[in-house]
Amino acid sequence: MSEQGQAGVALLGSTGSIGVNTLDVIARHPGRFRVFALTANSQVDKLAEQCVRFQPRFAVMADSDAAMRLQQQLQVTAPDVQVLAGTDGLVQVAAMDGVDVVMAGIVGAAGLLPSLAAARAGKRILLANKEALVMSGALFMQAVQENAATLLPVDSEHNAIMQCLPDDYVPGPAPRSVSRITLTASGGPFRALALDKLAAVTPEQACAHPNWVMGRKISVDSATMMNKGLEVIEAGWLFGLPIEQISVVLHPQSVIHSLVEYHDGSVLAQMGNPDMRIPISHALGHPQRIVSGAEPLDLLAVATLQFEAPDDERYPCLALATTAWQTGGTAPTLLNAANEVAVQAFLDERIGFTAIPAVIGQVLQQCSVHAADTLEMILADDAAARAAACECIESGRAVTA
Ligand code: NAD
Ligand code: MG
Repeated sequence: MSEQGQAGVALLGSTGSIGVNTLDVIARHPGRFRVFALTANSQVDKLAEQCVRFQPRFAVMADSDAAMRLQQQLQVTAPDVQVLAGTDGLVQVAAMDGVDVVMAGIVGAAGLLPSLAAARAGKRILLANKEALVMSGALFMQAVQENAATLLPVDSEHNAIMQCLPDDYVPGPAPRSVSRITLTASGGPFRALALDKLAAVTPEQACAHPNWVMGRKISVDSATMMNKGLEVIEAGWLFGLPIEQISVVLHPQSVIHSLVEYHDGSVLAQMGNPDMRIPISHALGHPQRIVSGAEPLDLLAVATLQFEAPDDERYPCLALATTAWQTGGTAPTLLNAANEVAVQAFLDERIGFTAIPAVIGQVLQQCSVHAADTLEMILADDAAARAAACECIESGRAVTA
């Protein structure tokens, strides 16, 4: 615990959706948390504003030109903030002595090295950046264990499961009272769209999520349901369960955030409005409950809760992800990398929506899977999958697949 009993927080990805929601919760508890570091990719003005308001010790920009511009701005408005740059800067702040809590809120593989640095430094990690865990699960969980780090899920489904599991739950496949966990999924904006219209949907339509306001990459992942696929893998690592004990159900209202089923037939669900400040405040305050700012749930206004099975034809990414998880090794690393490249190409309007699973499927066929026990191998396979995905997109093969 740092100065005056406040927990020092390094907020990785502070300008994003998770970052802004985290600052909103932190601002409600000034005696409890102190912002030690804020980081962003390239949004100089937004990070500069956050620095003026929260006066962190450090601010990091992944992009070095942006770091120089931030430094110039802060010389006038917040001269005590020290500016660092690049992945080195991110890794440094994630492991510093004044940091008790690291919010891993960077999107995609860019979050891997800083999140891993936090684990190796034995920090309390609040994990939103599911891609880091998907691409390096065994290595990441080992780093957490060996360095006595604490890993608390911020992803709403995994946070819900954590809330519904027994307090003495130990991840692992041994027989025990939990028989299954069920992740809920909204189904995204195209749940009811005619299948033959999917190929022509636009990035704007894909990013218009019915229940949650999120970054563009995870919004597209929600529309393809790759997000749920990544979350199945995330749940496998966090809770130590085999695929047979993890199920997915569509629940369009996003009020039940996930469920845990026990051997005696009891099913515990965590409910609440779809507001990320709820899981963020749960993880920040744990084991205490702290105010989040979320509106109370009005069950009468919700009135109806629906459940449906996910449709394989509409959401092929879900099967791609579960197959990668069953294959093991670096298969999830390849899946994640191919998905990141394909989603970016879709957002840039270089490929259509239905080409996203086509690209990923081709990369998984083409690239070799290796044991995922070293960082070097994980980074090499991440790079190989990105190159294969780019090649697939540039050659136009994904479109005709
Ligand atoms: P976002 O796009 O809104 O924000 C991403 C943040 O990461 C920004 O601060 C950006 O500056 C930073 N960033 C991007 N690229 C970077 C790079 N190369 N190097 C360093 N920093 C970089 O994304 P988000 O919606 O906040 O999602 C963040 C993570 O949280 C994702 O892994 C997502 O899956 C997960 N998550 C988000 C939500 C949500 O409601 N937004 C819910 C559950 C999980
Ligand atoms: Mg989620």
